[in-house]
Amino acid sequence: MVEVLIGMGSNLGSRTLLVKKAISLVQRKLKVKRMSRFVVSAPSEGVTGGWFLNGVLLAETNLLPTELLCFLQKVEIKLGRPPDHLPGKARSIDLDILFYGDKVIRSKELTIPHIRVLERPFVLNPLLEIVPGWIHPLLKRRLIDIAKEKGLFLQRGNQ
Ligand code: AMP
Repeated sequence: MVEVLIGMGSNLGSRTLLVKKAISLVQRKLKVKRMSRFVVSAPSEGVTGGWFLNGVLLAETNLLPTELLCFLQKVEIKLGRPPDHLPGKARSIDLDILFYGDKVIRSKELTIPHIRVLERPFVLNPLLEIVPGWIHPLLKRRLIDIAKEKGLFLQRGNQ
């Protein structure tokens, strides 16, 4: 089993319901071990639509990275995300593989660690909440130390 971190976001439709449904579908194949709070954040990076509900799951899986991506994409489609969804468009649900154990992957379909993990407060803060000691496989340092050093988005409770 490999520990993975999955980022979740929704800014279209009944966000709370969609996130709950996504978690229950994810649990069919992954063993969810920890869940961050889900927080509301303004759409950024030019994404259209309403405010996001964002959070992160720590889970265990036997799926390979590409199998995991394929499974998460099926969950997204099941919850109403069109297969040809464009990057800047609002999304009923978005599931990203943030980390897959200590693997570093740079392929056509997968970038792991997910790009901009450290730049997105709505990703980094939930990570700091549930896995502050997670070692970033490229920087070889704990997320909490990287965040402290760079003065990144530390919330109360993470220090
Ligand atoms: P998004 O609109 O953020 O859901 O992006 C989906 C696309 O990002 C898919 O075509 C994936 O192949 C690609 N992708 C690259 N790296 C990742 C990752 N770590 N997790 C999920 N999707 C990824």
